[in-house]
Amino acid sequence: MIISMKLGATQVELDDVMKAVETSGFRPFLNPGVERQVVAVLGEVDIDKVELMDQFSNMAGVERVQLISEPFKLSSRQAHPGPFSVSVGEVSIGGTRIVVIAGPCSVESESQVLETARAVKASGARLLRGGAFKPRSSPHSFQGLGEKGLKMLATARAETGLPIVTEVMDPHDLDVVCRYADMLQIGARNMQNFSLLRWTGQTRHPVLLKRGPGSRIRDFLMAAEYILAEGNPNVVLCERGIISFEDASRYTTDINAIPILKGLTHLPVILDPSHATGNWAWVKPIALAGIAAGADGLIVEVHPDPQHARSDGKQSLKPSKFADLMAGVARVAPAVDRSI
Ligand code: PEP
Ligand code: MN
Repeated sequence: MIISMKLGATQVELDDVMKAVETSGFRPFLNPGVERQVVAVLGEVDIDKVELMDQFSNMAGVERVQLISEPFKLSSRQAHPGPFSVSVGEVSIGGTRIVVIAGPCSVESESQVLETARAVKASGARLLRGGAFKPRSSPHSFQGLGEKGLKMLATARAETGLPIVTEVMDPHDLDVVCRYADMLQIGARNMQNFSLLRWTGQTRHPVLLKRGPGSRIRDFLMAAEYILAEGNPNVVLCERGIISFEDASRYTTDINAIPILKGLTHLPVILDPSHATGNWAWVKPIALAGIAAGADGLIVEVHPDPQHARSDGKQSLKPSKFADLMAGVARVAPAVDRSI
């Protein structure tokens, strides 16, 4: 259930509503909207909801009370009417302007990150990505440079001004990653690591939550719900391909997920065409399809020398190909009333 307050409702009226929710055995959760305050009523109490809705509707300052049928209450679009965007430094994800995040899969050396950061910035990327803690299928593969890698990202940010997005895999690493990152990435494999989601929810860092390759859209939204329920509203969702019977590509891009998610939630939605395809040659067409389908942005792997990349070289674009992708995005965006 959500209670939308009237425009200009007073603090006393809001406090009274929050108290009444508590008294009825539920947990009130305030969603401070741009236009109006919305109180989500959380919890599982077996009482007559219709009677309760009547009670809340009659309170001073209340505009409207609605039942939310979906299990994802806080990430539901109903609970958050009006525009919503997530700020990462000066960059806002979720507005009409499309945001492209780009950089290497893994941070390998200072020169590699710097060269990539300069190149992607010159082509119009607004955030720099790069993994320092890498989730690898094999324990024998390169696991990332850890804090040394985070320092290299910080050096690239200092030079280019690009805020950095980097993955956190373990709640134990959260402190160190938060010291360097502007945005925390929760990778596909950790989408349902509920303790990581909870701890991340207790930070105020913006979070880029990637969809698990075997997860349904509703599981994805419930994972976002864990972060929101801890009080961190700054979540961006990322479709990055799902597992299907098709093995011609690394994963199958679920393009449908973009408009479906945009309909179900207020949270911004971006696409990762690099992991979704697994092959640099398909990255641009799928990136453009994502923009056409309504994505708020892209996250793209770029490497100065993909053949020698320590991870995901096959799907990484050379800087010149990334420039070409950006030129394509600039052409497609206006067709769907977006800009870059
Ligand atoms: C990555 O972004 O490099 C990554 C490992 O992505 P995913 O979690 O989507 O596989
Ligand atoms: Mn990767």
